[in-house]
Amino acid sequence: MTEFSLMIHGGAGVIRAPENYDASLRHIIETGAALLDQGASALDAVTHCVALLEDDPLYNAGRGSVLNAQGIVDCDASIMDGRTLDAGAIAGVRGVKNPVLLARAVLEKSEHVFLIGEGAEIFAREHKISFEEADYFLTEHRVAQLARVKEKQSVALDHSQANDLKLGTVGAVARDRDGNLAAATSTGGLVNKQFGRVGDSAVIGAGTYADNASCAISCTGIGEHFLRTSLARTAAFFVEYQGMNAQEAADAAIRHLTQKIQGVGGLILIDRNGECGQAHSTPDMLSATAVKGEIWVGAGLTLSMWGAQAR
Ligand code: ASP
Repeated sequence: MTEFSLMIHGGAGVIRAPENYDASLRHIIETGAALLDQGASALDAVTHCVALLEDDPLYNAGRGSVLNAQGIVDCDASIMDGRTLDAGAIAGVRGVKNPVLLARAVLEKSEHVFLIGEGAEIFAREHKISFEEADYFLTEHRVAQLARVKEKQSVALDHSQANDLKLGTVGAVARDRDGNLAAATSTGGLVNKQFGRVGDSAVIGAGTYADNASCAISCTGIGEHFLRTSLARTAAFFVEYQGMNAQEAADAAIRHLTQKIQGVGGLILIDRNGECGQAHSTPDMLSATAVKGEIWVGAGLTLSMWGAQAR
């Protein structure tokens, strides 16, 4: 039995009042840490943490998802098991209460890895995944946020200068007491995204990756940038083949993202030894970490501050 490690994130961007997230992040990291402490698998812990983040309207996932250009919530999510490289992903799904539970069902019960749109929704109903009516997702502030972004004729990260709401994509990575890794990510995507657009959060190797031989990673930011750089897989490569530890790989991945395409976003990463790392090219990133018996709720902390504290 080894020590467990757990990290969660609530998105990256400009976060004007990070303290508003502290209680939620703390509750969720403590819940996930208690599960791992009692021997839960990394896969169960990341599923549970992401489902809790999806239920909290503070974040851009599940209930709090941002609206697309048509004013509708379309969710993307993915999950990966580092023991086997089994993975499940869904994109462009409507009405599913917890998209991460649907991604998990794809991982466990489908012969495929990636289901989209109506096909994914039919699969969800067949596997008794819970649905909610449209008004569950349609909060007043999401409608106002879409109107503001539409006025500027742009698409936006949930956490951006362009809007005053502090909400974001979510993810979790874990290493359990058996040394197994898992990662999961869930999002409503970008505000005012084109109908049919899929970001990195649903794509294994871009927004999510887990392999016991290297690390578990969950990303957040402008999905197109993470898709073009296969960023999660790139970070895993740094651990597996270049021998980097978690923080070195997180830094190297964000350097790669910015040097190649001036990419915008961040990631959390737990390596095969249970070390934790986090990096972002945005001013802030919401996250929380449970490692070596300690809990850090790092909303708004800079990378270097976080690195110094974690050591
Ligand atoms: N990566 C997500 C996407 O592009 C957005 C985010 O992380 O906030 O869909």
